[in-house]
Amino acid sequence: MKMQSFGAAQTVTGSMHLLTLDTPGGERRVLIDCGLFQGGDDLEARNRENFPFDVSALDAVILTHAHLDHVGRLPLLIKLGYRGAVYCTAPTAALAETVLLDSARLQVEGYKQDLRRARRQGREAEVLPPLYEEEDVHRTLALLRPHLEFGETTRIADVRVTPQRAGHILGSAYLLLETSDARLIMSGDLGNRESGLQLDFTPPPAADAVVIETTYANRTHKPWANTLAEFSGALRDSIRSNGKILIPTFAIERAQVILHTLKELMDSGEVPRIPVFLDSPMATRATNEYFEFGDELVPPVRDALQSGEDPFRPSTLHVVPTSAESQRLNRYDGPAIIMAGNGMMTGGRIQHHLKHHLWKPSTNLIIVSYQSPSSLGGRIVAGAPSVRIMGEEIAVGAKVHTIGGFSAHADQDDLLAFLGTTGKPHVWLVHGEVSVMDAFIPVLEQRGLKGDIVPDRGVVDLLGPGFPQGRPAGLVVPAQTGDPARAVGGE
Ligand SMILES: [Zn+2]
Repeated sequence: MKMQSFGAAQTVTGSMHLLTLDTPGGERRVLIDCGLFQGGDDLEARNRENFPFDVSALDAVILTHAHLDHVGRLPLLIKLGYRGAVYCTAPTAALAETVLLDSARLQVEGYKQDLRRARRQGREAEVLPPLYEEEDVHRTLALLRPHLEFGETTRIADVRVTPQRAGHILGSAYLLLETSDARLIMSGDLGNRESGLQLDFTPPPAADAVVIETTYANRTHKPWANTLAEFSGALRDSIRSNGKILIPTFAIERAQVILHTLKELMDSGEVPRIPVFLDSPMATRATNEYFEFGDELVPPVRDALQSGEDPFRPSTLHVVPTSAESQRLNRYDGPAIIMAGNGMMTGGRIQHHLKHHLWKPSTNLIIVSYQSPSSLGGRIVAGAPSVRIMGEEIAVGAKVHTIGGFSAHADQDDLLAFLGTTGKPHVWLVHGEVSVMDAFIPVLEQRGLKGDIVPDRGVVDLLGPGFPQGRPAGLVVPAQTGDPARAVGGE
């Protein structure tokens, strides 16, 4: 039972793990997730690296959930010749369509923009083509097999695969993979048991090895009630300054959690009713999937949906469909909440709102999700006096609020609760920064568990002895480019 990770190894993005499993039918190669690297040029450059394995020799691909950093390189895999099935849950397939089409559109738009700029500078030849386009996504979607059901075992490439609820975003699953001699759990991303809309993760069964995400393995989230109080306080404070309130929002899960929270706070009178603009076509599309799969959500939201209510619609909500209407918002007078993507502010409609409003002291920027230190959002959170947006240096005059508790990721208590029912497995750490994993290993040891950091691209024997002190030989800890404690939320 071997694994080689080509993403989310010592970082939180680009999830892609190649499993080599011994089965009665021989060796099988199963790829778990095929995500895009996001969050700054250095990481994103890795999206252009060739796949370091024979794509056509894969027996199957399984997706844990539809976040771009778990599905965003799938069209590349198909471009390079993969023609097999891609298994996932039905909500994951529905959301993956939205996510991948948006990703292709952004890449093509980014390419055209870079090309126009490069032409003016005579550097046209340096512009890289888009990673993939819409037709590649359609070829990818045709391979999706949305047959995985929570709690039901399916045989995939001679391996028994049982997905279970991960409680992270709509449709998210962790996987139990069983061969004749071993049981492995691949956690995917695990949910914060307190936050928002998803049912809690199902306690996992005993296993020989667990590959577990560690995004927030070194901290405990604030109680949900405190997060709500903090958010409503920031909103009331912002409304008093009479300017725009910008909420950069990831389109899946965070947008729906924030819409639902705004509705509750305004309906209860805790926050005055001011206009809310949802300036994200992708979030609008994703919200429709939450209606479609309403049975998956926590009982109050599920029941509201069943009774014909819209739990994601504050009474002052305006949906902004076109980019022309989005531009017109720049001339809108008076206080208003603008929710726009993307969540780390590295692209999308939030950028022109920031360009127009970030310099004004009356503006409030409320950050409700994870900001990679090298992203635009990360630089603002770290206190940069000015930032470059759409080719222009913009002063940061706005008040910046960071609300950490909306995270859709498990914290240390959640992760320990997850591991609590797995017996004494060998625990392999992925999807986290090295400093966070270093802090988590002794916590695991106190519970009698051996924890090891999965090396970037290196092959590990999941049932083998692991590494001394949990670290693979030659692991160089990258210098911190920001204070991880300032990175909030988590996707
Ligand atoms: Zn995720």
